[in-house]
Amino acid sequence: MGYFIVMKNQIRVRFAPSPTGPLHMGGVRTALYNYLFALKMKGQMILRIEDTDQSRYVEGAEEYILKSLEWCGLKFEEGPHLGGEYGPYRQSERKKLYNIYVDKLIKSGVAYYAFDTEKELDQMRVNLKKAGVQSPQYNQITRQNMKNSLTLPVEEVDKKLSNNEEYVIRIKMPRNQTIKFKDKIRGWVSFSTNHLDDKVLYKSDGMPTYHLANVIDDYLMKISHVIRGEEWLPSAPLHVFLYESFGWEKEMPEFAHLPLILNPDGDGKLSKRDGDRLGFPVFPILWKNIKTNVNIEGYREKGFLPEAFINMLAFLGWNPGNNQEIFSLEELIKEFSLEKVGKSGARYNYQKKRNGLINNI
Ligand code: GLU
Repeated sequence: MGYFIVMKNQIRVRFAPSPTGPLHMGGVRTALYNYLFALKMKGQMILRIEDTDQSRYVEGAEEYILKSLEWCGLKFEEGPHLGGEYGPYRQSERKKLYNIYVDKLIKSGVAYYAFDTEKELDQMRVNLKKAGVQSPQYNQITRQNMKNSLTLPVEEVDKKLSNNEEYVIRIKMPRNQTIKFKDKIRGWVSFSTNHLDDKVLYKSDGMPTYHLANVIDDYLMKISHVIRGEEWLPSAPLHVFLYESFGWEKEMPEFAHLPLILNPDGDGKLSKRDGDRLGFPVFPILWKNIKTNVNIEGYREKGFLPEAFINMLAFLGWNPGNNQEIFSLEELIKEFSLEKVGKSGARYNYQKKRNGLINNI
């Protein structure tokens, strides 16, 4: 067993998709940058399936993710399909672990039980809107008027728990603190806790939410760098706060939030709708929706070679700093660095990219 223990300073990255549908090209780019970084640094690349939100689970999505990445030539060292020392690699199979850790947060007073019903939560939102609050939140102030273990007498909380009443566990975000961390792409970023809400960490169906499971798994799987899309930047202060609350500051991974891939007009995140509107694929390979029987073609069906697709994705946010436009995967590994990833959104122009590749290959 000792042989498998990760060495100190070992680079370990993970690609952590949720099986909520087909993998979008933005997701493939995230996997690619993780892969390039891992190989360049002689590190390890792990696949983790984040399937804690059962209501959003789509049949066939996990298989599609694996097939797409295989077509792209991106390989993993550990994952649900490969096993490994830090498994299981599917979050739905790790439930017991999350229970242990969420209990620790409750015991140390960093998290609390909340028993509010949907109706009560809706009422809170309505009341706050009436009072002029634009985006109502369950937070340091509003929690004081809600039904939770901070406001109810201990006996009542115990009674509710032993009666198996529905509850969620929320983080107790403190007031007037600043959470700061250094992002490898954005530099120092800081957030005031007064703008952060008491996010749900754990639901009464026995499943953690993304935030809790993600942090616990990155810690237990000894992840050294979290490289993911910019849409996760607003969640990062909560993640940093969780590392601190568990006393894992020293093990906290470094963060790198990748710029968004923008549509050809540059006025929004590239979506499937943009692809439909302008006639280009947004998925790597054919997606067959088992439930609806709808088939959507990907880059592979449009005649792209995986090398060309990968080459094109590499340039969506990264730039080698010279004029070379065509790179093999080996060359990309050699040249890639997070320092050369830009901060601003990368506009995707399919026609231009396609013509460039055709003229050069
Ligand atoms: N499960 C998240 C997703 O679907 C992962 C975000 C992360 O990498 O932390 O993108």
